[in-house]
Amino acid sequence: MAICPFAIQKIISGPSGPFTGGPFKIVHHTTEGGTAQGAFNAFSANRSDPHFTVDATAIFQHIDTGLGARALRNAPGGVETNRDSAIQIEVVGFAHRPKTKPTLRNVARLCRWLEQTHAIAKTWPNGPPRPANNGHDPGGHNRNAQNWDTKSGHYGHCHVPENTHWDPAYTGDEVAFLMAFDPDAGGLEGPDAFPSIVEDDPGLSEAVSQMPDHHKVD
Ligand SMILES: [Zn+2]
Repeated sequence: MAICPFAIQKIISGPSGPFTGGPFKIVHHTTEGGTAQGAFNAFSANRSDPHFTVDATAIFQHIDTGLGARALRNAPGGVETNRDSAIQIEVVGFAHRPKTKPTLRNVARLCRWLEQTHAIAKTWPNGPPRPANNGHDPGGHNRNAQNWDTKSGHYGHCHVPENTHWDPAYTGDEVAFLMAFDPDAGGLEGPDAFPSIVEDDPGLSEAVSQMPDHHKVD
């Protein structure tokens, strides 16, 4: 059971139930919308809450990390998804658009806390996410169920068995920044680090998802 000390607590639908297996892992999503409030409305309507929603200014916690969240599809039979000790983060933004530095700093801060709290490996067992290809699903995602069931680490929604969504589609630089940034170790080496990552995405609030069924989890 864990409550993140630097997250704003905001209960929406509550947990899906206790975890049924492990090991602990982090699952990265994009909300497929431009605002945290829009995401909260969708979670409420679809009962599809993650543990955390993160944007450029805040980290919100919806579910205790000792209980299952709701943002993954789970088919009958096969492996468990939401309840396989999967701690889920919804990043405000879109799979097909750049993720900004302020948002990635908040995601990284949360990941460092989760890695420490739940002994989560700093690796990507099914590989890093695949970035969008001309704004669309690049395909070719590794959804290896044995890794999912047996290996701690970071996964994208794009890596989860029984699921079809392709978020978060981080670029290689976004993954590198996310894994390197540690606010307790002084952050990164300076303002020139990772010049490909934008500070702001002015089109975010008007953007339209290329994955409009993202909130449907069954
Ligand atoms: Zn997702």
